[in-house]
Amino acid sequence: MIIAKTVKEVREYVAKWHKDNLTVGLVPTMGYLHEGHASLVDKARADCDKVVVSDFVNPTQFAPNEDLEAYPRDFEHDCKLLEEHGCDMLFYPSVEEMYVPNSKTFVEILDEMPKQLCGKTRPIHFRGVCTVVSKLFNIVQPDKAFFGQKDAQQLAIIRRMTREMSYGIEIVGCPIIRESDGLAKSSRNTYLSPEERKAALVLSKAIFHGEKLVKSGISDSKTVLDEMKAIISAEPLAKIDYVSAVDGVTMFPVDKISNGVLVAIAVYIGKTRLIDNFIAGGLK
Ligand code: AMP
Repeated sequence: MIIAKTVKEVREYVAKWHKDNLTVGLVPTMGYLHEGHASLVDKARADCDKVVVSDFVNPTQFAPNEDLEAYPRDFEHDCKLLEEHGCDMLFYPSVEEMYVPNSKTFVEILDEMPKQLCGKTRPIHFRGVCTVVSKLFNIVQPDKAFFGQKDAQQLAIIRRMTREMSYGIEIVGCPIIRESDGLAKSSRNTYLSPEERKAALVLSKAIFHGEKLVKSGISDSKTVLDEMKAIISAEPLAKIDYVSAVDGVTMFPVDKISNGVLVAIAVYIGKTRLIDNFIAGGLK
């Protein structure tokens, strides 16, 4: 596996691959990789001739009160996992390599969509995500890019940004990978104490219950969301940020849950904020 730390190196390798008519898949990550990330790499491996994974904890998507400094890192482990899953090139830039000093150019969707759900508590988050993903698209110039349904709002935002910026890159959404007990895999799960780890199961419990209700034919959002909220509220260590049913494209709340509606939750377990979701009718 090639480990590239500079934009120049990435461009040189990718230019050669494109010249040889090879397709390139990109998997953007912030490292501390787990099986959720690996599933994206596997999908990219299956779909593309060459797979590039970026490992970059992007400062512009963290607010000053968030966990940028504490965000977990394990480069050796990441390299091992990526080698095992057939990644061709790991792009591992420094902050200085990604952002020129005093960089003030951002990519942002100036609409209500990024202000819904996670945007309410994380107002600058999606501007940072769009900016870094745009930069990665410009640097890597992939044919396809792979994102997890775990971050459903991010995926919807990236799809819209890609369309509106005419990137011509196919965005592929991949299903949520879970621990054996149901908890959605996340680099942030490492923050949880053993007691919090048990409490965190209320997220997947609520998601599975909501999904079951919808499958049984209940479509009234309030009925479904109230039952999900009751499950979460029964756990003393859990504090709800949001439990919402929204249009899968616009992220606006809906009264009826029909196919394509996103049911998404964000819950604090102690100080750790975790997210989970399902799409009515499944991920298309
Ligand atoms: P992150 O490193 O958390 O920024 O995530 C990088 C990519 O991996 C994003 O597209 C995430 O949606 C995806 N991802 C993270 N956790 C999971 C998971 N449990 N299942 C599937 N994809 C995931």
